[in-house]
Amino acid sequence: MAPTAHPERPPAISELWDWQLQGACRQADGELFFHPYGEREPSRSRRERAAQAVCAICPVLVRCRAYSLAAQEPYGVWGGLTETDRQQILAEQGTPLDEAARSAEVA
Ligand code: SF4
Repeated sequence: MAPTAHPERPPAISELWDWQLQGACRQADGELFFHPYGEREPSRSRRERAAQAVCAICPVLVRCRAYSLAAQEPYGVWGGLTETDRQQILAEQGTPLDEAARSAEVA
């Protein structure tokens, strides 16, 4: 007999994260998505554009983007959005990224 899901239990963790297994970034250079220490312009913009090109063909872009905004991911390119993109979107929504995360990034 197959186990049945309890109606009040949250979904299994794997159900929440399985979409990541379909991410196009799994086949890409992971260093494109997160900045190395001390990265400056124009290297940063070049790296972010390369990561966004991978996201543009990703089958789970919408879900990834929604996750990154809901989680207020402070670092990296997620769902085609850079850190700056997310900060702007969240600020427009009245939910800016945690100040501590931003000041840690500057340090
Ligand atoms: S949208 Fe971009 S960061 Fe998100 S899973 Fe796809 S390739 Fe990776």
